[in-house]
Amino acid sequence: MEDLFLKALPLLHELKKHGWQAYFVGGAVRDTQMNRTVGDIDIATDAAPEEIEKIFPKTIDVGKKHGTIIVLWEGESYEVTTFRAELDYEDHRRPSGVHFIHSLKEDLKRRDLTINAMAMDTEGRLIDYFGGLHDIQTKLIQTVGNPAERFHEDALRMLRALRFMSQLDFTLSPHTKQAICENRYLLAHISTERKTTEFEKLLQGKAVNAALLIAVETGLYKELPGLEGKKEGLLTACCFPFHQLETKAQLWAAFIDKLAIHPDQAQKFLKAWKLPGKVIQEALKIAGYIDQHWDRLAMYQAGEETLISAVMIHMLKEHQSIDRHQLAEVRQSYQKLPIKSLKDLAVTGNDLILMKNNPPGKWVSEDLTQIEQAVLCGELDNQKKAIEEWLDKCNQT
Ligand code: ATP
Ligand code: MG
Repeated sequence: MEDLFLKALPLLHELKKHGWQAYFVGGAVRDTQMNRTVGDIDIATDAAPEEIEKIFPKTIDVGKKHGTIIVLWEGESYEVTTFRAELDYEDHRRPSGVHFIHSLKEDLKRRDLTINAMAMDTEGRLIDYFGGLHDIQTKLIQTVGNPAERFHEDALRMLRALRFMSQLDFTLSPHTKQAICENRYLLAHISTERKTTEFEKLLQGKAVNAALLIAVETGLYKELPGLEGKKEGLLTACCFPFHQLETKAQLWAAFIDKLAIHPDQAQKFLKAWKLPGKVIQEALKIAGYIDQHWDRLAMYQAGEETLISAVMIHMLKEHQSIDRHQLAEVRQSYQKLPIKSLKDLAVTGNDLILMKNNPPGKWVSEDLTQIEQAVLCGELDNQKKAIEEWLDKCNQT
């Protein structure tokens, strides 16, 4: 058993000591079977949330009525979820209620994909009722049970299927694919935020190519914000190695660039995905510089982070990889700029007013812009005296 599981093992023992069942479940079990880095450790038990709260001194109620409690333990936090069966689903997105049960098998049965529906006990033994391990070995994404039924319950699962294809480089079972073709319209019932979270993970997966291709073949892309009518763009975007990027802003900048979204439409497109305002602003800025010819002025105007982001995306467009050495050189050129912002100029607007003994007016900002440009291209030293002389000379000519 891996260290992360060993660290969480006392929680399972504690639950069992009180007479409950307790297992590791979900993504962590899948990842350990695949020798992938394990992320969050999730625990399932038949103890009701109130019982869990009684057993552990430090808990956070994150969704008690759905059976989820966070237990804080030795500096880590674990999601502990009560075995549950979901009652009828409303609107293809949420169950009308849950009821707590005592059967691990029933709990695993409500999970989305076979690879996500395995459990591991305190001895490290795998519990695999739905062929999850076989699907890991054959690299197959399929739902637990009938895909059409499972998508009717919660339509997000269609997008999750493609997200895991992309992240794990698995293929989609033909049966599940067919059900996506037939039920994709149900995604209209899902909140944009949930779709965005899954889609960002899809874009960052190593097999984004195959996943986007399936999105096109099944027509699922038409149910995603702003993508209706963007089939050609998506087919171009398919081959872009988004996973080599580092931030959300870079990811979305590259995506709108590959989709060839017109700059006038870009903000509306990003807003349709309900991204945070900061991500939208930065992505728009980066996108505007991707194919920039970089001189000192452009570097200065872009600023360091936007410059680096835009250059990274440009490199990926050209060579499918990021030349770290060249990127470091770009950063150095930026560092060498004589000024990084107007604040760095040796004179202020006030200085100019005093120097020229003129009343304030539009001329101040015009002069500052001229000085800024002269300093940037190395024509003028960023020193008060030099600037004063330069201004005098300019006025004489
Ligand atoms: P990741 O490593 O990306 O977090 P994960 O498998 O842990 O992957 P989560 O979204 O954190 O994915 O979900 C945790 C588990 O909950 C899943 O492994 C799956 O068993 C179950 N699950 C999540 N979303 C759904 C859903 N929409 N329908 C059914 N089961 C789901
Ligand atoms: Mg998880």
